[in-house]
Parts: sequence; C-alpha cells; structure tokens
Amino acid sequence: MYFTARLAAPRIVGYSARMDGKRIVIAGGGAAGFFGAIACAEKSSDARVVILEKSPELLAKVTISGGGRCNVTNACFDPKILASRYPRGGRELIGAFHRWQPRDTVEWFESRGVKLKTEDDGRMFPATDKSSSIVTCLIHEAEKAGVEIRKSCGVAAAARKSDDGFRLALTDRETLDCDCLLIATGGNQNSIGHEIAASLGHEITPLVPSLFTFNIKDRRLEGLPGISVANAAVEAVGTKLRQTGPILVTHWGLSGPAILKLSAWGAREFAERNYEFDLLVNWLSDLKRPELILKLGEVRAQNSAKQIGAFSPVEIPSRLWKSLASGAGISETTRWGGIANRDLEKLADALRACRFHVGGKSMFKEEFVTCGGVNLREVDFRTMQSKLCAGLFFAGEVLDIDGVTGGFNFQAAWTTGWIAGTSMAEI
Ligand SMILES: Cc1cc2nc3c(=O)[nH]c(=O)nc-3n(C[C@H](O)[C@H](O)[C@H](O)COP(=O)(O)OP(=O)(O)OC[C@H]3O[C@@H](n4cnc5c(N)ncnc54)[C@H](O)[C@@H]3O)c2cc1C
Repeated sequence: MYFTARLAAPRIVGYSARMDGKRIVIAGGGAAGFFGAIACAEKSSDARVVILEKSPELLAKVTISGGGRCNVTNACFDPKILASRYPRGGRELIGAFHRWQPRDTVEWFESRGVKLKTEDDGRMFPATDKSSSIVTCLIHEAEKAGVEIRKSCGVAAAARKSDDGFRLALTDRETLDCDCLLIATGGNQNSIGHEIAASLGHEITPLVPSLFTFNIKDRRLEGLPGISVANAAVEAVGTKLRQTGPILVTHWGLSGPAILKLSAWGAREFAERNYEFDLLVNWLSDLKRPELILKLGEVRAQNSAKQIGAFSPVEIPSRLWKSLASGAGISETTRWGGIANRDLEKLADALRACRFHVGGKSMFKEEFVTCGGVNLREVDFRTMQSKLCAGLFFAGEVLDIDGVTGGFNFQAAWTTGWIAGTSMAEI
C-alpha cells in the first residue's frame, strides 16, 4: 500500500559513486549496515554501495553503547563457546563464527588504527574508552571504500522488480533501484525493516525485549541498593531457567550478570507471564544445603555468645546477611547459642533458596536488545542471503538473533554484516 502510494510520482534517483556495476543498497546505518557496506565495497571494485539511514545520525547505538565506551566484542575466540552466549541464533552462528569471529573483529579495528583492550571479564573496548573511536573509524573506512552515505533517508518499502533486483520507496518520497538489498535496520519494534522483510515473504518471529532487570518490592532488599554478591545462582520458579554469576541489588530489585543472563534466556517465557513470576536466589551457589547446615551448626557451637547481627558466617555482605536472617524471623540481637535446629534450617533456606516475587522489569543502563525478528530458517548463513528472495540479505539485530551482555550483540552484527557484504560483492 505504502509503496504504491509513494510511487505515484516517482523520481528515480541514481548512485553518485561508480557508474557501472552492481547496485547495492544497505538499509540501516548501524553496526551491521556499516560493516556490510565496507566489506562489500572493499571486496568489489565495481559495486556501487549506498547506505540509507533513516535518522539524521549514523551509528547512534554504537555511540551510546557500553555507557559511551562501546563494548565492541568479547575475548571469546572459540566459535562453539561464543555461540553458546546467544539465547537465539547460537546454532546458526557457529558456522558464521568460523568465518568471522572476535579475533577478526579485533584485527579489523586494530589494523585500521583502533586499539582494543580486554577487561577481566572478557569484554573488549577501544583503548580510548570512547565509542567515538569506533564510530569515526567506521565512517572513515566506509568513505575510503567509496560507500555513499545518505542520512535522514530511510527505506519505506521494497518491491521485487520483474527483471531481478528491487525498487525501493524512500522516506523522502524518491525511489531507488538496486540489484541487492541488505536489510540491517536493527531490532527496534517500530522499525519498518521487519515489515519490508515480511512484504518480501519472510516470517517475523514476534518481537519482545531481552536483557532487563527484575522489579522486586521486598523488605529483605530494602536499604541494600549497591550491594553485590559474586557467586550467586538464580532460578525462575516453574521453569527450567537457571543462571549463575554476580547479582546486584538495585533501587528497583535485582540486576547483575546472573539476572541479565536469566532475562535473556527467558525473554519469551517472561513476556508470556507478563513479567510476573517467582524467583529463587541462592546467595551461596558453591555451598550445598547439608554442608551449609553443618557449617551453621559449627558456627553456633563456636560463637554461642555472639549476636547473629554481629557475625556473618558466610561470604555475603553483612547488611544482606542481617536482612536475610531477619526475613527468616531471626532478629539480629538473637545470640547464636539460642538458635534452634529448625532456625538453622530456616537460615540455610534464606541463604540458598530465597524466594522473591518479580513484578515487572526495568532497563539495564538503557541497554536492551530484541528477541525475535526475521526467522533464521529462511536465511542462508553461508551468505546471509534470503532463501526465499534472491538478492535480499539480512544482517544484525533485524534477525532473530540476540546475545547476552558482554559485546556479543555487536559481534553478531559484525559477523553477519561482514558475511552479507562479502557475499553481495561476490554474486
Ligand atoms: C543503550 C544500548 C547500549 C548497548 N551497548 C552494547 C554494547 O556495549 N555491546 C554490544 O555488543 N551491544 C550493545 N547493545 C546492543 C547493540 O547496540 C545492538 O545489538 C546493535 O547496535 C545492533 O546493530 P544493528 O546494526 O543490527 O542495528 P542498529 O544499531 O539498531 O542499527 C540499525 C539502523 O537502521 C536504521 N533504520 C531503521 N529502520 C530503517 C529504515 N527503514 N531505513 C533506513 N534505516 C533504518 C536505524 O535508525 C539504525 O541506525 C546496546 C544497545 C543499547 C540500546
């Protein structure tokens, strides 16, 4: 509908760069679009590559990513282990990572003058700690490779032409013909990229948010924001969803890597439950219940005159310990010697199976990704070309691919963008 309306008085625009050769349009000037465009233009001397970005800003998410530092990738160099960081898309990405993985990303940026550094948890950032280093590099490399970049000019619709290729209706009311179209419009729910993919025959797996924190109103967490526990385990009651890692208490509930991973793996299930479910937190994931009860019994025997609140027997912050003990009905002035065996069990459960009700979600530092998108069964991951529509390619978050935090989402964008770009150059 939109397409035909826009074509009422078409002005077919040309390509300002190379005059002959394949005409390649990249819809979306984000990480995947830029990487695809550069790979294509560098590989093919005669391809005319245009990036169409609907907003006035290029690489906007790269700019704000990682708190302005841009977590470019992760120092995880084994394709199989790397693929296991993707709740959706991991299986399809294994082969793709054999062709373009974090090592290639690092080499790509470093050979172009952007040195990357690795933090203790494997996350990789530009050594400058500034996302602008990445943005400047990508724009410079695109221009150097002869990519034409048009801002404030999006793709509104695409139709297959009878003689191969596509006719695009642009948001500025112009039309543009191309031989190959790479849809790299990201995962935003209101992006028209999914609509275009659907209009060309693709199924779109429903879109829901991934990577969020849990809203929990509970007295046991009151006054504790900022407190973190390094080795915790979390489990969504009534599901098979479990994760381990650090947890952070926030003003709204719980966050930290274990929670974010759980939110990613459970993105669809939590959406179906309208983000209402019970969560079991094990604050001491490396201690089994019988061992813990034994340990608490020994502590009781050796510290009978000490008050519960004055002495935390386990490796969690003392304020959390007091709050959990009080939640188990044991006041902080109670002496260890006065604790009955059944109270020891209650304490053990408060530490190992602490139940909270989650009543909603919040954003994690504004970072989020989308679960859902172009159905992966319909895309050939050797080329990133549609299996349904020749000449149509996909890269980045528009696909039903998302990873946990740590640089994995950008890595998927670099990998799929690079494969799509080189494939478009080759056909
Ligand atoms: C605040 C924040 C921080 C993040 N930090 C990190 C991080 O540090 N590390 C990490 O790995 N991941 C991070 N992510 C996730 C990461 O940003 C995305 O996974 C990644 O940007 C996806 O790249 P993309 O190119 O597929 O999509 P996008 O970056 O979303 O780019 C898509 C582009 O297409 C444009 N567009 C949309 N529709 C059209 C259209 N019809 N025509 C033309 N253009 C169109 C959009 O304006 C946009 O510029 C973060 C996300 C957010 C929101």
